[in-house]
Amino acid sequence: MSKYYIFFIFLLTLLIPNIILSITEPLSIIGAATNIILPAGFIYCLISLSPKLGRTIWLMFPLIFLAAFQIVLLSLYGRSIIAVDMFLNLVTTNTAEVAELLGNMFPTIAIVVVIYVPILVLGVIYIRRKIKLSQHFLSTNRRVSYLIISIGIVTLGISYASSPTYSVKRDLYPVNVFYNIYLAFDRTAKTADYAESSAEFKYNATTTHTDGQREIYLLIIGETARAANWQILGYGRPTNPRLSLRDDIYAGAQSFSESNTTHKSVPMLLSPVNAINFNSDIYKVKSLVTAFKEAGFKTAFFSNQRYNRSFIDFFAEESDTTVFIKEQSGLKLSLDINGKSDTELLPYLDMILQKEADKQLIVLHTYGSHFNYNDRYESEDAKFTPYDYDKATKSMCDKLINAYDNTIVATDRLIADCIERLDSIEGVSAGILYTSDHGEDIFDNNTGRFLHASPRPTRYQVHVPFIVWLSESYTSLYPEKAHAIRKNIIELISTSRSFCPTALDMAGIKVSGNAKVDTAASLLSPAYTPREPLYLSDHNEAVLLKDIIL
Ligand SMILES: [Zn+2]
Repeated sequence: MSKYYIFFIFLLTLLIPNIILSITEPLSIIGAATNIILPAGFIYCLISLSPKLGRTIWLMFPLIFLAAFQIVLLSLYGRSIIAVDMFLNLVTTNTAEVAELLGNMFPTIAIVVVIYVPILVLGVIYIRRKIKLSQHFLSTNRRVSYLIISIGIVTLGISYASSPTYSVKRDLYPVNVFYNIYLAFDRTAKTADYAESSAEFKYNATTTHTDGQREIYLLIIGETARAANWQILGYGRPTNPRLSLRDDIYAGAQSFSESNTTHKSVPMLLSPVNAINFNSDIYKVKSLVTAFKEAGFKTAFFSNQRYNRSFIDFFAEESDTTVFIKEQSGLKLSLDINGKSDTELLPYLDMILQKEADKQLIVLHTYGSHFNYNDRYESEDAKFTPYDYDKATKSMCDKLINAYDNTIVATDRLIADCIERLDSIEGVSAGILYTSDHGEDIFDNNTGRFLHASPRPTRYQVHVPFIVWLSESYTSLYPEKAHAIRKNIIELISTSRSFCPTALDMAGIKVSGNAKVDTAASLLSPAYTPREPLYLSDHNEAVLLKDIIL
């Protein structure tokens, strides 16, 4: 094929992401046109600078790589540019999960290879054979490229003038992806500096509860449990065989997480940080564990997840006792290699309860309903059959739902077991909060959507359960709090905003340091005020959930 054809084919292949993104992204017509015209002009200009086309192709390898990566992600999620979280997930997610994801991407990776590898091979051939484009060809095309750039600058101006939300950093590929790469590096550096940047943080926490009363508070952070599949929140199947029998459970059916990712949601649950102050405060704060410690509590954190090398680990390490049960060597794993059942957290809970501390906080971080569902529950929880999917596809949806519902049965059993343990301790003032970090898509409404953490959330990914249990002694000591929760639990709840203030309020902890705890967010407060659901965007900005939800 003529080298002049290759010149234009190369230009076109680099513009594939721009063309697709102009259709998939929520851009105005002029914004979509800018996203094609301006980059087309610049790339066109760049490749008509030198007669050595082979060398040019290889010099532009970063753009080829980004285009290939972007196309793979577009096929996986159906939309959205490469997010900051996607770069960060590569360092925070464990390798088994990355491998799972790569399996799903295989067909598109093949297409991308077919598009770009022949171009790169031609580039090598052109370099070896010293093939050059004519100066006349280059100067003609360069002049055309100037014209296209000029048109692009005009449409860019119109884009800014016609839309108050338009931004090159967000809406112009590949500038937006380069900006996200910068943010990923910036956040990684700030996370590495966390010990220093949070060193001065103090809650100056004190408790308003009287001495001499034994208190135990248990916070259970679930994983991937979506409200839509909870019987006690209105689901039509008996997924809560134990909790549904209790009359001392408060269950919030209108609770939304402000993130659909574990690594952002869990830190928001465990600290006074939420979508509004995440960007300014996450590198400075310590978790509620420190507030409990300052107020005289013994603290313990048990996790059934892997280390994430970020805030979840930092917060866990604030505790007097910290165990990530999957990270312990020499332990026999009872389920799959990646899995330990969450019930294996219970012996650790028992160990702490046996110490009979006067004031005790325990945090359990479960693996709940994370895919692969069939590895997350034991045979006694397998109420829904058949669940023997062999792979995660739309055609397996019914079996996937059965398996998923079995994971909720397992979580129901875990929470009920915890309640019974605390309930059986004579005279103790105790309380349990449970929520999940985010929900999950399971090919719902015949869409191809599966799992969570997509660049834009669905309702299934952010609608989560919020469960509160208070012991009889607690309720008789603090009747106003029991009254408040009864009233507030039916309101709109942001779990990211309310979990930490509710936990502190439950323990009667008041803070006065440089911590900003939103007391109007406590569900145990008569002054609880709901706010419109927010979402923490990829750029760590608070956006209205209704503006971003799919
Ligand atoms: Zn999660």
